[in-house]
Amino acid sequence: MQNTKEILWNENLKATPSRIRLLELFSKSKQPISMKEIIKEIGFKTIDEATIYRTLEVFKEKGLIRQIDFRKDHAYYELANSDHHHLVCNSCGRIEDFEGCKELINRVLRRSKQFSKVSQHSLELFGLCKQCA
Ligand SMILES: [Zn+2]
Ligand SMILES: [Zn+2]
Repeated sequence: MQNTKEILWNENLKATPSRIRLLELFSKSKQPISMKEIIKEIGFKTIDEATIYRTLEVFKEKGLIRQIDFRKDHAYYELANSDHHHLVCNSCGRIEDFEGCKELINRVLRRSKQFSKVSQHSLELFGLCKQCA
């Protein structure tokens, strides 16, 4: 895996302690994390809330992380290093990754009479996990 500082330098970002700390948090998180969880992990004493927000915006702009809409009152974020999507349990909140959106997008475009290109996409599926069903 690429070193956190190199990832920041590649994006022409200064490797400040707060950026390194946040990027490392995303690298080790196996699931998307919310602002609340980020604050819990990092703590206001280390980085203040405004800096966390600003850093998330910068990371989003650079395409290092993506924001995911889980239809909750707050946003979730994860590292944007692979194209995958999520199955979400409406009852317990369990999240499972899935892939294969490329095939879906290609099929949709082949069938569309009016569209020739997709530049962005988001796709989350909501339902019940086997334990909750
Ligand atoms: Zn569940
Ligand atoms: Zn995708």
